[in-house]
Amino acid sequence: MLQPALSAEQTWSKCLSVIKENVADQTYGTWFEHTKGDHIEDRTLTVRIPNNFAYDWLDGHYRDLVHEAVMQVLGDNYRVIYSIIPPPADEPPKLDAKPAPPRPANDPLSALNPHYLFQNFVEGGSNQFAKAASQAVGEAPGKTSFNPLLVYGGVGLGKTHLIQAIGNYSLERAIVRRVLYVSSERFTNDFISAIQNNKTTEFSSNYRNVDVLMVDDVQFFTTKERTQEEFFHTFNTLYQKGKQIILTSDRPPKEITGIEERLLSRFQWGLVVDIQRPDLETRIAILQKKAEENGIQLPGEVVQLIAHHVTNNIRELEGCLIRLLAFASVHKLDISVALAKHVLKDIFVHKHHNLTVEEIQQEVCAYYKVPNDMMRAKTRKKEVVLARQIAMYLTKKLTKHSLKTIGLHFGGRDHTTVIHALESIENLVIADTQIKSDLEVLKSKLDVSAV
Ligand code: ADP
Ligand code: MG
Repeated sequence: MLQPALSAEQTWSKCLSVIKENVADQTYGTWFEHTKGDHIEDRTLTVRIPNNFAYDWLDGHYRDLVHEAVMQVLGDNYRVIYSIIPPPADEPPKLDAKPAPPRPANDPLSALNPHYLFQNFVEGGSNQFAKAASQAVGEAPGKTSFNPLLVYGGVGLGKTHLIQAIGNYSLERAIVRRVLYVSSERFTNDFISAIQNNKTTEFSSNYRNVDVLMVDDVQFFTTKERTQEEFFHTFNTLYQKGKQIILTSDRPPKEITGIEERLLSRFQWGLVVDIQRPDLETRIAILQKKAEENGIQLPGEVVQLIAHHVTNNIRELEGCLIRLLAFASVHKLDISVALAKHVLKDIFVHKHHNLTVEEIQQEVCAYYKVPNDMMRAKTRKKEVVLARQIAMYLTKKLTKHSLKTIGLHFGGRDHTTVIHALESIENLVIADTQIKSDLEVLKSKLDVSAV
């Protein structure tokens, strides 16, 4: 069999150049930079990678790309396999020289919630990358390029759960000894009381002698100058010692105002990942998981109903389930769609309030194939007038806006025009079955059909 002229290392380097052109720099740096061609044998190229987790990620997400690159470099008869070889031991030691027993994961000093684990963090498109990165950090805190790791995203999307899972994971496996989790408020309050009690030295040593420091919701550092100053030094000390820093925020660091530039820039030194709102499949999976944890069998339609209506917050999703379970058990009722609709009525009403006039206008325009700006235009063309009146009607029904406000959203029309529109549509609904069914479809598109 013909062996290629290049060594495995050179071959893989060539593949890497191809890969590099096809992925974002960040992706390349994260997943490919630390890989190395090891040997070629039997039409198989073996590539060294640093850990199991890199394997999952490369194999799960970049298999086609890698295949493509190898094909370009070697022809299509070669395959790639990965060999996991941890980074060499000449890197800084993880633990201090002083021997001390590792702490159990639920150590009160770490302030970690023992239930926040990777195992019960349901993965979906919205959080996959954040979870993967967190697992990598959990396996080797302070030793990956993800330092600091900053996870950002809206309220109730799992930031706290995820970062605490890192702490629990690395404590459980004794990868590190000292993990400290604090909210940024707690950090601030501790600092203030340290100043008042003349204990700033103690404060500093407390926060600077850990292997992993997690600060949750850093956006609350806004405007607290002395706290920011203190945190800046804490950050630098830990970073220089190769300790892991993990942060969360409710928005991307670029959008945080009131935090000093030098601190903001440090927040972005490592890896910044976001968690987005979960998609429907993930919401369903989360509900099923939580039901399972509670030892409850939830009918599929109930899962669907809740997952369809609670769309932007996992805490709320959980809250609905708990309310439903509590109600059913107190009243000794079976969990059914009817019961769910009864117990959770407010989530359906709530949905109306969240709809914006723009959303309604967009949906109506798309449905009647009318350009969006026609909602505000003066045109009296028949189909435009109908679409506009339907949108006004739905806005009145599905939002809490006054007639006057509605008029303003429709090109500054007078409230009497809005009244006229409502009356016309109400008459049409009775007389014209087509309009009636149009409205049904539109309502279901706006996801309020269950009401
Ligand atoms: P955040 O810190 O982003 O506001 P939390 O981490 O407090 O959100 O999450 C809110 C709740 O939702 C927690 O009870 C958490 O366990 C749960 N949760 C969030 N994301 C997930 C997930 N992907 N899988 C399972 N539970 C989750
Ligand atoms: Mg949180």
